[in-house]
Amino acid sequence: MSSDISGTRRFRTIYIEETARESPVALHILKRFPDVPRVFIRNYKDVFNRPRQDTRWQARYPALILAVQPGPHVFPGPEVCQSFGFKAFFYASLLLNCPFDCEYCFLQGMYPSAYTVAFVNTDDFIRSIREEAAQHESMLLALSYDTDLPAFENTFPYVRTLSDALRNHPGLTLEFRSKSAVTSIYTEIPPSENILFAFSLSPREIAGRFENGAPGTEARLHAAETAIAAGHHIRLCFDPIFIGEVPDRVYEDFYAEVFSRLPAENIRDASHGFFRMNRSFFGNIAKSRPDSRLFAADYEVKDDVLSFSQDQMHLIREKHLDVLARYLPKEKIFTL
Ligand code: SF4
Repeated sequence: MSSDISGTRRFRTIYIEETARESPVALHILKRFPDVPRVFIRNYKDVFNRPRQDTRWQARYPALILAVQPGPHVFPGPEVCQSFGFKAFFYASLLLNCPFDCEYCFLQGMYPSAYTVAFVNTDDFIRSIREEAAQHESMLLALSYDTDLPAFENTFPYVRTLSDALRNHPGLTLEFRSKSAVTSIYTEIPPSENILFAFSLSPREIAGRFENGAPGTEARLHAAETAIAAGHHIRLCFDPIFIGEVPDRVYEDFYAEVFSRLPAENIRDASHGFFRMNRSFFGNIAKSRPDSRLFAADYEVKDDVLSFSQDQMHLIREKHLDVLARYLPKEKIFTL
């Protein structure tokens, strides 16, 4: 799988809702894939929500669905996500599913299909985001919650579109989280307090083992360096952390490497969270990935969320925080 979805062989089929076919976003995307077979459909759910789809097969042979999202367009952020101290935390999903195929990704358990849905009615999203933001003094909006939005940028520039439209909205912070190697957005989008690029970083051993199809650690560090060089204050996401997969020393060395390359004064904050998953998503993935050691292991369940044992996490979290605090003030490190 390529490191972004700009390659014209990426999609085997493009499904297009009748109501989406003439929209500027659809026309832009279709122009990028002139040779991919097209199928017109009534509603994206007719394809996306079909029962008994083979999501592992679909991950190998992807399709794209262009659709109109009638709404709602903005949702309250879930408990298992970090809100970084914002009182109001919301997310919006212009894309469903992700070009990458991380073994630990919750999306595999959440959706009945691995096909990517791209919503074409960006103006409706922008209007709904403005309306929601107007009700809060300060609001964090996660835009890569159900996807990796920057990885789609070469197919349709959602990041640029949203940044241009919303960068001056008072009190609104947009977060774009990514494992993508795309760097053009960092040089083309002017730095702003309201636009936050977040980089998901893992030690090479973890990335190689679990983050299938995603750019490697080196490419992500390079992308983060590019963002900093362009003047952005970035967020680092050390999430998910695994216990027992690698000697814990690997994480400590990795933090030292990250902060030797990314100056702390350019880091707005960092998150640290362990592998965790809602019980029903976990069950769905365990069924579709019987070969996965990750989904065959035993975990502790707390409030319907599976993760490592509380004691183990407490111990490792304290160790990691001690190391991270060598580089960043503790109040800039958010844990889950
Ligand atoms: S990059 Fe994120 S959204 Fe994409 S597959 Fe990996 S964990 Fe899931």
